[in-house]
This record gives sequence, C-alpha cells and structure tokens, in this order.
Amino acid sequence: MTTSRPSLLLDELSAQLAQLDATGLKRRRRTLETPCGPLARVDGRDLISFCSNDYLGLANDPALVEAACAGAQAWGVGSGASHLVSGHMGAHQSLEDKLAAFTGFPHALLFSTGTLANLGIVPALVGRGDAVFADKLNHASLIDAVQLSRADSQRYPHKDVGTLERLLAASSAKRKLILTDAVFSMDGDLAPLPALLELAERFDAWLVVDDAHGFGVLGAQGRGSLAHFNIAASERLIVMGTLGKAAGASGAFVAAHETVIEWLLQRARTYIFTTASSPVMASALLASLDLIAAGDARRQHLKRLAAQLRDGLADTRWRLPPSPTAIQPVMVGDNFEVLRIAEALYQQGLWVPAIRPPTVAKGTARLRVSLTAAHSAAQVEKLVDALRKLA
Ligand SMILES: *Cc1c(COP(=O)(O)O)cnc(C)c1O
Repeated sequence: MTTSRPSLLLDELSAQLAQLDATGLKRRRRTLETPCGPLARVDGRDLISFCSNDYLGLANDPALVEAACAGAQAWGVGSGASHLVSGHMGAHQSLEDKLAAFTGFPHALLFSTGTLANLGIVPALVGRGDAVFADKLNHASLIDAVQLSRADSQRYPHKDVGTLERLLAASSAKRKLILTDAVFSMDGDLAPLPALLELAERFDAWLVVDDAHGFGVLGAQGRGSLAHFNIAASERLIVMGTLGKAAGASGAFVAAHETVIEWLLQRARTYIFTTASSPVMASALLASLDLIAAGDARRQHLKRLAAQLRDGLADTRWRLPPSPTAIQPVMVGDNFEVLRIAEALYQQGLWVPAIRPPTVAKGTARLRVSLTAAHSAAQVEKLVDALRKLA
C-alpha cells in the first residue's frame, strides 16, 4: 500500500481496539467446523455448545435440509430482485400466507432479517413529532430503529407499566408507539404484554412486539408470546417474529392488520430497498413451520432442560434470574471474571458465551446459557457439574 503521508486514522482505531482489549471488551469469532447443533467442533476440538438460538434444534434438521434442496431445484438460489420489482416468488407468498394463518393475523410480510424488519417498521409508522415508548432492555435493533425514525424517544424502566402509563398520559405527541421485546434476549424474561396492550388501547397507541425469542418456543403449537398470553390479533398490535432462531433458518416477518401490512409494503425502506431473501430459505421455512406446529415434544424437552439447569444450580452462588424460556442467564457482574469462567468451561469442552457491555448494562456481565431441544439431559448435567465445581 502506498500513502502520500501517514494518517492518524488507523492509529486512532488501533488505540481504541487496544482499549477494548484492556477492558475485557474485545470480541473474537470462532470458526465452526460443524453445522449448528449441540455438538460443535472448533480448531479440531469437540465442544458442547450452549450458544445458539436454534431453540428447537431445527437448523440442521433433515426435513429442512430436504425442503431447502427441493426449493433450490424448484426456484433456484437467488430471488434476483427486491419484492416490489420481481423478487417476490410463489415460495415467499406461500410462506407469508402460512405465517399469517399460524400467528392468527390477517396478513404477514417477509423481511430478510429481524434487524431489517425492526429498522423498517418503526420509521414507517412514526416520525418527527411522534413519540416512541421503549423498554430500557430492548434489543439493539429496536433502539436503532427509533433513532432512524427521528421520533421522540422515551425509555421506561424494564417492564415498568406504571411509569409507561405516566409517560403516555403526559404525552401530547400526535402518534404514539409502544415498543418492546416479548422475550428479552439477554435475560429470557417476558414483557407484560396484556398490560402493554391495555395501555395501547387506552392511549390509542401502536404496540409493536418483537417476538424473536418467543416465536416457536412459547404458546400453543409454538405460536409465540401473544399466544402464551392468549392475546388475539388487535388493530393496534404489530408483531415481528424472526426466522433465524427457533425456526432454524433465517429471515423475519411482520404480522398485523392488513392495512398496516399494506402500509409497510409501501413505506418500509428496509423492505423496499433490499433483495428478496432466497427462495431456498422460504422453502425451508415452510417445512419448519410444520415442525414448529407439531413440536410439543421438543418444547416439553426444552422446558425440562431449563428446570434441570435451574434446579442443579439452585443451592450454589450462581444466580439465575427467573426465566421461563430457553435463555438462562448466569449472572457474574465483572467483565474479566465472566471471561475467566467462560474460558474455564471452554477448557472442559463446554462452550457458553460471555455477554458483556454494551450488549448488557455495565456491571451485569453474564454467561448466557441457551438451551435447545437438541440438547440431552446428559449434556446439561455436564454443564451443571462444571458450574458447581467453579462455584
Ligand atoms: C436476534 C434478534 C433480532 C434480530 O433478528 P435477526 O433475524 O437475527 O436479524 C431482533 N430482535 C431481537 C429481540 C433479537 O433477539
């Protein structure tokens, strides 16, 4: 490389990277030599992985692989264009219809990822002069979506319905939108959705629910967090579900009233200005929805594993905040300590991610154990034993 004169730009980045390293915040990737599943090989070593969001163990399921292959034969690999130009294929439409029926909403709209869906929904619904009321622990993509919308942003303490009610009552914004994760991604706890919907109705606000971790896992047949609470479709309710977690593939959808879906199709920029996801994915997801609906045994097994982990650590120093989901955080606090513990587990062949700021608040670094229906009780027992010894 030739440069006319030395630049400080790289020096600045290097210094900041060194700072991340010094504070225990530098991330690194590990390259998998195996497909997604409870057993992972990294650098030739076999590990039991408690890292993935593949909650039902579908990412490498033979039925999905077969459906993907058949989808590629039928539709090819690429969609060739955005949905509004010529990329919207039969496989996408079938999937949207099936998702709408499955979630009980009039219509659904496919997005390429959950992050893109969130970045599309919020700015399409609110802008300058409007107000968004967001839970403090919402996913990063929801936080960014609010910024992108330019709406006034008010963040309420985690799950604090009383504060939210006061904020809504005091607001004179033209349009109001309540924004929440259904299952919080680093804690595994549930948003008080019935109370939030009641507020949305009382204050005539939208309620946008991000069900990335509830879809496929919670509710009858895995229909998601709204089904868990027996909440029916409502005009003010918009639900976003991701398809890269329990559904085992990738993508996302928004389900809502047909007018909302039509508006998003016209106005959500991350829907309009991106290539439609691969028809291979849509084909695999059609098969995935069948397995999710028929997946009660998988969900029961997952519940049993969570109870086994929690019971196994109940009398130790490890604190696991209440979580009825596949996400089981083991609280540690300090960045370096959580790294040390994760490394000690790793040396014993147990791969558990250490989650640090800015993903979680300062001083709340934790191990994020994520369980899947593909884990065995023996694998969870190994993790319990190792954590008991480390405590
Ligand atoms: C993973 C996640 C997303 C992003 O979904 P992708 O499909 O991975 O882009 C959005 N919201 C929450 C709460 C998530 O956990």
